[in-house]
Amino acid sequence: YAVTEADAGSDPSGIATTAHRAGPGRWVLNGEKWFVTFGSTAQVIIVMAHAIDGGSRLPTLFAVPADAPGVEIIADVPFTHNYPHGHPTMRFTDVELTDADILGGLGNGDDLQRLWFTEERLAIAARCIGAMQRLIEESIDWAASREQGGARLLDHQGISFPIADSAADAAAGRLLGLDVARLADEGADRKIVHGKASMAKLFCSEAANRCADRSVQMFGGRGYMRTTAAERLWRELRVDRIWEGTSEIQRIIVLRSLERRGVSAMLT
Ligand SMILES: Cc1cc2nc3c(=O)[nH]c(=O)nc-3n(C[C@H](O)[C@H](O)[C@H](O)COP(=O)(O)OP(=O)(O)OC[C@H]3O[C@@H](n4cnc5c(N)ncnc54)[C@H](O)[C@@H]3O)c2cc1C
Repeated sequence: YAVTEADAGSDPSGIATTAHRAGPGRWVLNGEKWFVTFGSTAQVIIVMAHAIDGGSRLPTLFAVPADAPGVEIIADVPFTHNYPHGHPTMRFTDVELTDADILGGLGNGDDLQRLWFTEERLAIAARCIGAMQRLIEESIDWAASREQGGARLLDHQGISFPIADSAADAAAGRLLGLDVARLADEGADRKIVHGKASMAKLFCSEAANRCADRSVQMFGGRGYMRTTAAERLWRELRVDRIWEGTSEIQRIIVLRSLERRGVSAMLT
C-alpha cells in the first residue's frame, strides 16, 4: 500500500503523485512512493494518486501491477527490524493504467484510505497486545528461575513491580482493542470507530514499547542479546509507534474525535 512520499508523510494530503487522463478509460501514473511495505515482493501495489481529469484533482487509489513498464524500485535500505520483506522506495514513470485499475471509484481514495487506516491501526493494536503477553510470559519465566542477591529476581520488587505494570498495560490494551473491534463488528458510526482505533493503536503501541523496555532491563545482559525474545520485540515494536500514523498523529485524531464526536462517545 503506497501513500507516503518524500514530502508527504504525516500529512498525506500533500502527495504529488498524479494519474493524468490519457484518453477514454486510460490513465498515466507518475510519482515516487516511500516505505512501500512488501514493495519488493508484492504483485500489485495499491498507489494513492491525484487523478487529474480536466480541472479536477481527485484522490484515487490505483491497483498497479508491480511488473508494469515504468514501475521500479529505486532504493531498498535495511530497517531496524529484521522482517523478511523490505520497505523500498518505488518510482512510477509514465505507467499506463485503465479505469479497471481504479479501486473503489474515481475520487474515493480518501474514504477508502480512512477505512484501511482504521483496520490496520486495530491490527497493530492486536499485534501489540499479543507481544505484551509474550513479553510478560518470558519475564515471569525468567524472573522466577533466576536467582541473584540470595533471592529469585521475582522476589525483588525492582523486578516484580514492572512486570505488574506490564500486566496492567496488557490487560487495559486488550480491553480497549476488543471494544473497538466489537464496535466495528456491530457497524457503529465509522467516524467513532476511526477515532477509537487511533486510541487503541496509540495506547497499545506505546504500552508494548514500555513492556519491551522493562523486559529487556530485567533480562540484564541477556536482554541485549539477539537470541532473546525480549530483545527482538523491543526492536520490532518500535515501528508500531511510527507507521500507519505516528503516535503524535494518533493523538491529534483522538483529540479531534473528542471534540467532534463528544467525550462520552469516545469513552463509552
Ligand atoms: C518500516 C516502515 C514501513 C512503512 N510502510 C509504509 C507503507 O507500506 N505504505 C506507506 O504509505 N507508508 C509506509 N510507512 C510510512 C509511515 O507511515 C510514515 O513514516 C509515517 O506516517 C510518518 O511519516 P514521515 O516518516 O514522513 O514522518 P514526518 O511526517 O516527517 O514526521 C516526523 C515527526 O514529526 C511529527 N509530526 C508530524 N506532523 C506533526 C504534527 N502535526 N503534530 C505533531 N507532530 C507531528 C511526527 O509524529 C514525527 O515524530 C512506513 C514506515 C516505516 C518506518
